[in-house]
Amino acid sequence: MTTATQRETRGFQAEVKQLLRLMIHSLYSNREIFLRELISNASDACDKLRFRALAEPAWLPAGEQLAIDVDFDPTARTVTIADNGIGLSREEAVEHLGTIAKSGTAEFLSQLTGDQQKDAQLIGQFGVGFYSSFIVADRVEVYSRKAGLDAAHGVRWESDGSGQFTVESVELPSRGTRIVLHLKEDAKEFADAWRLRGLVRRYSDHIAFPVRMPTEGKATAERETVNNAQALWTRAKSTLSDEDYVEFYKHVSHDFGAPLAWSHNRVEGKREYTTLLYVPGRAPFDLWNREAPRGLKLYVKRVFILDDAEQFLPLYLRFVKGVVDSSDLPLNVSRELLQEDPEIEAMRSGIARRVLDLLTKLAKDEPEKYASFWKEFGQVLKEGVAEDATNRERIARLLRFATTHADREAQDQSLEHYVARMRPGQKHVYYVVADTWNSARQSPHLERLRQKGVEALLLHDRVDEWMMSYLGEFEGRSFRDVSRGDLDLGDLVSPEEKAAETQNDEAAAALCGRLREALSGRVESVRVTQRLAESPACLVRSENDYGLQMRKLLEAAGQALPSARPTLEINPAHPLVKKLEQLPDGEQFRDLAGLLHDEATLAEGGQLADPAGFVRRLNRLLLAGA
Ligand code: ADP
Ligand code: MG
Repeated sequence: MTTATQRETRGFQAEVKQLLRLMIHSLYSNREIFLRELISNASDACDKLRFRALAEPAWLPAGEQLAIDVDFDPTARTVTIADNGIGLSREEAVEHLGTIAKSGTAEFLSQLTGDQQKDAQLIGQFGVGFYSSFIVADRVEVYSRKAGLDAAHGVRWESDGSGQFTVESVELPSRGTRIVLHLKEDAKEFADAWRLRGLVRRYSDHIAFPVRMPTEGKATAERETVNNAQALWTRAKSTLSDEDYVEFYKHVSHDFGAPLAWSHNRVEGKREYTTLLYVPGRAPFDLWNREAPRGLKLYVKRVFILDDAEQFLPLYLRFVKGVVDSSDLPLNVSRELLQEDPEIEAMRSGIARRVLDLLTKLAKDEPEKYASFWKEFGQVLKEGVAEDATNRERIARLLRFATTHADREAQDQSLEHYVARMRPGQKHVYYVVADTWNSARQSPHLERLRQKGVEALLLHDRVDEWMMSYLGEFEGRSFRDVSRGDLDLGDLVSPEEKAAETQNDEAAAALCGRLREALSGRVESVRVTQRLAESPACLVRSENDYGLQMRKLLEAAGQALPSARPTLEINPAHPLVKKLEQLPDGEQFRDLAGLLHDEATLAEGGQLADPAGFVRRLNRLLLAGA
């Protein structure tokens, strides 16, 4: 006996053990999905074989049909799923059936709570695949022979799902994979023709290969096809139900939950192709992992070519799942060729348009679903503002914000809503950026706007400041960060108010000069504010300077930033500022000036450069006042 034929016992990867334990408990009420998962894998294996046979014609002799057979034996309490697809070598069986390939799995599992319902959702979104067999079976045997290997190189894999599996080399007469499930006592209902046919029709109708079962009422080995067995996207839309689309989504996405929306299109013209694009219901656990696979499943004339063909989607639409089937790409197309083909770019922008149309329609017709989309994927879509200049306007319409109008943390207001509520005389769309929603809405920079009943967007996502720098304008209105440059209230301020302000300005000019001197090195300049109503002072940056959020981002990325000094704006109507005006130059004036500056820094969520100095100043002032 050679080492290869020896039986060997191996342990599952730690994560598999954990997943198996959790899955068996939390998916118990959904256990029929095992069949869908195994047929889905069998279909993938047939797809892979057909693709590999393009280069190795001997692997799929002409006339041989690829198919999936489902059998059962109520006496032995087994269900068997067999395919004549690509098969597994011994090494592959060890690797693919003993580990979880997805990176970040350990972290994902650590999020599970022990609460069955919540965990079922989480696990579902992770995709349970082959391991779902163990929900219904207490012993699973896999017999497989890889395409291109001879009969002696079959493999038998077996496990009871409790932590270990065994593999041994066996002789197998034909190519492909046969999975035998030894059903648990309480799952014996599945060894039944009626039950299995129902499940195949319900969950696997869309599978492009025939799923065959023994013909009913006949003792012969005759079989009949139970499913539709036609690539779903090639079927006419009118023949497809929502359930068909949903089940197909689960197959292509390896997601367990339902999609939020889909768009099925045939494009004719210079390039002919069909797309079926899905927006998932929930963000995958690895949405923020930049290495996570993404993209569409690529078919050429119905032949599967590639998983995760990322060339067909811009990065900011990486959450989209689905298929693209081209009529005129060569069958031997590779990732490299896709990268070089200028036509692919045209397809990509066509597909991006479809997705944006789909989202626009969703936002219009089903706002609740759109709200749920926004919660899951809004942060990713925001990247599109920077990434996709051509569609910036369409993306801008899809953005949702928290604003001072609604005064709730939920991001549910569109720019169209905002513009419709603009005050007479208002020229700009105002916004404030902070670390949290709460500090955004409390920002002193908003005081005057609030007093005038003018709405502002409250931004606090990490990417917001960066995104706003690309947004420029919306329907001819430019955006204004309320903490930068000139607020430009325009006609929102009456001529009388303006006149009074000019007077104030003149009266306070001397104080501004004295403060500039007292705070020299800390501020760029000191001037009378247009923004404040209640606070004594605030800090303002220039239009071109990085804001607080960008500074934090860049500093975290290790970039040294030029220390830009802000301008201090004072509110002459505030008693503290009035008091300052009365004080002669000297220590108390300098202390109060310093305190004003420190307060302004804290109020906008900044950090004091000299906290100890702040404490000393504050104490001196407290004592002087006592
Ligand atoms: P996924 O389908 O998401 O990759 P699964 O857990 O369903 O995850 O399957 C794990 C892997 O096992 C597959 O990626 C494939 O490599 C292998 N596999 C499972 N079933 C088969 C099969 N019938 N034929 C060939 N390989 C299979
Ligand atoms: Mg699978």
